Amino acid sequence: MTALNAEAASLRSWRFDENRNRLEFTTDSKIQPRAQLVTNPTRLVIDLPGVTFGRPVVSQLIGDVVRSVRVGQFDPQTTRIVIELAPGYTMDPQQLVVRGSSATQWSVQLPPPQALPADSVSPATPEEPPTGVAVTPAAPPGSSPRSPLIFPPRPTASPIPSLPNPGNPNSTPASGPLATIQSVELERSTGQLVIQSDGPIMFTTGWDNSTGLYRVTIPSAQLASNVAGPELPPNGPFLRVRLRQDDDRTVSILMQPSAGTQILGANQLSTRLLAVQTQRSRRPPLNWPGTSGSNNSGTIGLPPTQPNQPPLTMPRPPRGRLVVVLDPGHGGRDPGAVGIGGLREVDVVMPISFEIARILEQNGIQVVMTRRTDVDLDLAPRVAIAQRARATVFVSIHANAISMSRPEVNGLETFYASAQSEPLARLIQDSMLQATGMRSRGVKRARFYVIRQTTMPSVLVETGFVTGQEDAPRLADPQFRSLLAQAIARGILEYLQQSF
Ligand code: ZN
Repeated sequence: MTALNAEAASLRSWRFDENRNRLEFTTDSKIQPRAQLVTNPTRLVIDLPGVTFGRPVVSQLIGDVVRSVRVGQFDPQTTRIVIELAPGYTMDPQQLVVRGSSATQWSVQLPPPQALPADSVSPATPEEPPTGVAVTPAAPPGSSPRSPLIFPPRPTASPIPSLPNPGNPNSTPASGPLATIQSVELERSTGQLVIQSDGPIMFTTGWDNSTGLYRVTIPSAQLASNVAGPELPPNGPFLRVRLRQDDDRTVSILMQPSAGTQILGANQLSTRLLAVQTQRSRRPPLNWPGTSGSNNSGTIGLPPTQPNQPPLTMPRPPRGRLVVVLDPGHGGRDPGAVGIGGLREVDVVMPISFEIARILEQNGIQVVMTRRTDVDLDLAPRVAIAQRARATVFVSIHANAISMSRPEVNGLETFYASAQSEPLARLIQDSMLQATGMRSRGVKRARFYVIRQTTMPSVLVETGFVTGQEDAPRLADPQFRSLLAQAIARGILEYLQQSF
């Protein structure tokens, strides 16, 4: 590929690796980037002098702590990349490493973000939804100050006035060049769906409520006349993939994952290439150092796997309109806590949440999930979803973590914020304990945002520690997660039965 403009370099691709907290990017000719740390909210600004971006700002949501990466044209000569942290977090600029493996290939290694003391967080502006400052749980002594349960509030303002707002790609002007989507292919070795266009594209993703399909929407684009959907093998990650020209300037690609496949989200591999990433949710258990597959991981009362265990008996819920809002605590690009063997909180809470939803629906309960796998979700919208759904109860599902040097910390805990929620918390906690034999860390009062701001009975369930030597192998086991999901569903149904 040759650069059209010999004077200016252009940004070829960029990617934020959230597992390593590292930004990587490549350009088509030599550059020298400059990085600076700006505060309140903390963001890392990387300028690429002499680099043309040549399209509207692209914004990618990342997670709870590193919030987003935005790329845009700062001035005619400079492309600017902004990595924004959640309010309440900072980084040590001394530890920032900008490294070129060549003059066109760069990586920016972020230092680990650090939580600021709660009183140093700037208050929300009045027009924002009420967020409060970072809420710290009643953490056990010795727990890490960067506990995943410190929920950062929403950013309060568009932090870089010199870049246009990231905004909604659908709001791009109804003129200008259209990119042509040339192919949509399944890459069998990785299970990725790769979307290729002939020019720079942006995208949004979501679950389509009307069809139940996962949707990638690409504004300022058209389908090539000869483009066909991918060939889908039996037992592949997708049951179907549909290409749709929504209107003159918008293309959507809709897909249905097969049973046992999770859609992890879409990534921009380069300006012209998107990949929708999938994962088999029923993969074999991870290889635990010293604990693989059996009962040598300490004082476990039950073996981690209980094959062919009969399902728990569910109490019959009352008739009438009952709505349970389930909130998988993490998802999409936010993996939550990461524990022993790389076990990620998201891989625990997503399958558990989906299974609770299925059981409740089978019992005639209407279920609203605050998100599916891919959507990055602030705290205020979760509350808004529950309020709008006029939920009967709200249940947020998490897995716990503490320092990796504290494998002895294990157990279930369930949090509530108001007295009306305590019975729900107790029923869920008791049901989990009875079903699993896990340790109990108790039913506790805490002021987490999502359970404090919702007006219906609401609880936050911690399904054990991904850093715990007893809990982690269990949480990695699909059958054990299923047992936990059944137990949580049973607790919810018991509550509904008793209360309505
Ligand atoms: Zn969590």
